[in-house]
Amino acid sequence: MDLCSQFSFDAQKRMERLALLGLGDADLPLGKRLQEMVIIPHIDAIVSAFYDKLGTDPGATQFLRDPVRRERLIKTQTEYLLSLGSDFTAKAYFDNRLAVGLVHARVGVPLSLYHCAYCALQLIINRHIDTDTLPEERQRLTDFLLKIATLDMSLAMETYHLTQVNSLEQSIIDLRRQQRSLKKQASIDPLTETVNRGRILHELQTSMKEARDQRHPLSIIMVDLDHFKAINDVHGHQAGDRVLRQVAARMKSVLRHKDALGRYGGEEFLVVLPNTGCAIAREVAERLRHHIAHTPVKYDDILLHTTISLGYTELGERDDISAFIARADKALYNAKRRGRNCVAEPAVT
Ligand code: GH3
Ligand code: MG
Ligand code: MG
Repeated sequence: MDLCSQFSFDAQKRMERLALLGLGDADLPLGKRLQEMVIIPHIDAIVSAFYDKLGTDPGATQFLRDPVRRERLIKTQTEYLLSLGSDFTAKAYFDNRLAVGLVHARVGVPLSLYHCAYCALQLIINRHIDTDTLPEERQRLTDFLLKIATLDMSLAMETYHLTQVNSLEQSIIDLRRQQRSLKKQASIDPLTETVNRGRILHELQTSMKEARDQRHPLSIIMVDLDHFKAINDVHGHQAGDRVLRQVAARMKSVLRHKDALGRYGGEEFLVVLPNTGCAIAREVAERLRHHIAHTPVKYDDILLHTTISLGYTELGERDDISAFIARADKALYNAKRRGRNCVAEPAVT
């Protein structure tokens, strides 16, 4: 895409910019004269005076220290000067001038340096207008030089500014993305890749509020691996880790998308089931239990038979979060007492 389109410089906007500076087709011959009488005959002197001037500025010297870059800049500057004011109403002229700002922004030339250097360049060119030129003609050329230089500078500043705004916007987008990813990482348990205790409790709070607002049922299931310590003791901690990971993944695969599963403690998980009454919660718990008990976890060449105990309960009218969880804990305790690998509800009190 050309730069005029990219930076929204359509024909209308180009005309407005020229009109604002008092430039028009009638000034095209002045552009030609500026080239033929001033720039072409003195190009080397103008360029070298310009770089001598820049060499006195500590900010500018940092861009000129590298001889290869200096040579390239001199070449570009020469080409630039040899097109200054020529056919300036054409779209190509605008494209070319917009490109100057892009290059400066990319190289990191401060806008203030660019602005001041441009002023120095105008003074240097102005000095090369022949003293023999008639005063009227001289005035016309000087005025034209001021206008055309301002046009060029305004276009370069336009892209310079927009490039910086775009790059700032991009940085903000990148930062937000990083922030989201960090936030997500901070709430994920790295071993099981389920959400951690803090996050699942937060999700439970949110679900409790929604359930009450919408008058929907809400159930939770507390899950605990049976005799898990024995797996660690007999097969090692890594085998235990593998079992934990597998159990979490399998439970996730059984749950609905809107259900939440989190690691509540070492080998305990909390499942939040929105819009679910206790009868369905019992079915879900049974499904989870069956899914884990049915297929052993493979670790190296060993098959690790694993079971889980589950306690479920439905949100009551007067429950706060700790009473709700305490009831699920009690239900889990009942399942353990009944011999493990089973599902239980809290005892009716
Ligand atoms: P119960 O059936 O009564 O629940 O018995 P249990 O052995 O599962 O329960 P217990 O509370 O005695 O032991 C839980 C074990 O879980 C002890 C702890 O070392 C282990 N554990 C907790 N977190 C991790 C973990 O991240 N990785 C591994 N490998 N083990 C863990
Ligand atoms: Mg436990
Ligand atoms: Mg256990």
